[in-house]
Amino acid sequence: MNKRVLVIGGGAAGMMSAITAAEHGAAVTLLEPNERLGKKLNITGKGRCNLTNNADSGELLAHVAKNGRFLYSAFSRFDGRDTMAFFEALGVPLKTERGNRVFPVSDRAFDVSAALERRLHALRVRLVRDRAVSLTLRDGRICGAEGERGPYPAEAVILATGGVSYPATGSTGDGYRLASAAGHAVSIPVGSLVPLVSPDPCCPAMQGLALRNIRIAVRSARNKVVYEDFGELLFTHFGLSGPVILSASAHMRDFAQGPYTVEIDLKPALDDRKLEARLLRDMEERKNQTFSALVGGLVPRSMIPVVVERCGLDGDIRVNAVTREQRLRLEQTLRRFTVEVTALRPVEEAIVTSGGISVKEINPNTMESKIVKGLYFAGEIVDADAYTGGFNLQIAWATGRAAGAAAAGGEGDGT
Ligand SMILES: Cc1cc2nc3c(=O)[nH]c(=O)nc-3n(C[C@H](O)[C@H](O)[C@H](O)COP(=O)(O)OP(=O)(O)OC[C@H]3O[C@@H](n4cnc5c(N)ncnc54)[C@H](O)[C@@H]3O)c2cc1C
Repeated sequence: MNKRVLVIGGGAAGMMSAITAAEHGAAVTLLEPNERLGKKLNITGKGRCNLTNNADSGELLAHVAKNGRFLYSAFSRFDGRDTMAFFEALGVPLKTERGNRVFPVSDRAFDVSAALERRLHALRVRLVRDRAVSLTLRDGRICGAEGERGPYPAEAVILATGGVSYPATGSTGDGYRLASAAGHAVSIPVGSLVPLVSPDPCCPAMQGLALRNIRIAVRSARNKVVYEDFGELLFTHFGLSGPVILSASAHMRDFAQGPYTVEIDLKPALDDRKLEARLLRDMEERKNQTFSALVGGLVPRSMIPVVVERCGLDGDIRVNAVTREQRLRLEQTLRRFTVEVTALRPVEEAIVTSGGISVKEINPNTMESKIVKGLYFAGEIVDADAYTGGFNLQIAWATGRAAGAAAAGGEGDGT
């Protein structure tokens, strides 16, 4: 009889695990309580699915924020190019965009999940709509799992239930509880790629304002620059969000030392000399107008009162009354608009969960538990996470590939 492999979770990692185990000859059952497979996958990349990065394993590892070394083996055997070849073979044409980000040519995440589902059907993977509630162990070995609708006996079980971010997609932390009951250590999950909380009243005052083409530098409480980038930022009622902020958040993991400061360069295209020349020219042209009108020519409308206040000036004063020192203060505010950040938003709002099953208890070659024989892990449930650019899905594909092959192979040798 073929080896029975039970995969728990029908997200990116679970589908890849199930496909790989079936390709290696196992009789595979995939449990997923959602009506559809890949509910989170379908909302990735704003519905376009940045499914990997067009990169080799070395480049992939450079973009892993936590526990990159653990992923070395999985990435070496299945890198971004392998993921691309895999999906193209499934009939999903791909394109590579800025930063080597890979998307389906159709710009539809749904095409990625549909291709995986077609492959699951072709390999006769048994798809069951059910939720696993406990793992079944005997003498330190796995022998299946209990679902809400009945038992699922198996010689190998792959846990691919994701983290705890965006719980409406199904990732509610069940896998942590199942693994913990089996003796695994689970580190406390926190958000990564998550919006930032600020006490600065400027944020609610400017909520909804998106700043494009700005540069940010993030400083730690010890005044060390931990992140610099160029892109788009959004002010919200609670603080800051937007692509450049989500990326920055992965580098902000130590609030115990005190708050971080986000410095926004509102005029990154102008060096100091050009910025000064621009201000002098604007001041000459608007010398009979108000200071607010001058600022209005430099920043979006909802920013005007905030910038005026930061300059410590009355917005109604005439530009020809502005002193050199006051002009320098305006220059400084445009170059370095600071926002204090005191916390990350809750993990449920994060793009990815940092934390999960301790990598010390997982064999990096096979993804097999070092505690329970026959139990494997794949995807976001593992305590490893990466920056934006397709790297988190690449973790799901590569670990799913490794776990599926090893679970089907039986001896945990990763072949
Ligand atoms: C808005 C958003 C956009 C993103 N965009 C990108 C992107 O463009 N590129 C990128 O690389 N990454 C992106 N990510 C991250 C990426 O989606 C995840 O890292 C990836 O989906 C993790 O895959 P997974 O299979 O491990 O977990 P999930 O996709 O969360 O799948 C876990 C599955 O397990 C099921 N499950 C849970 N408990 C049980 C149980 N008890 N029994 C059975 N099944 C269970 C769940 O229903 C779920 O379907 C994005 C994330 C979000 C939230």
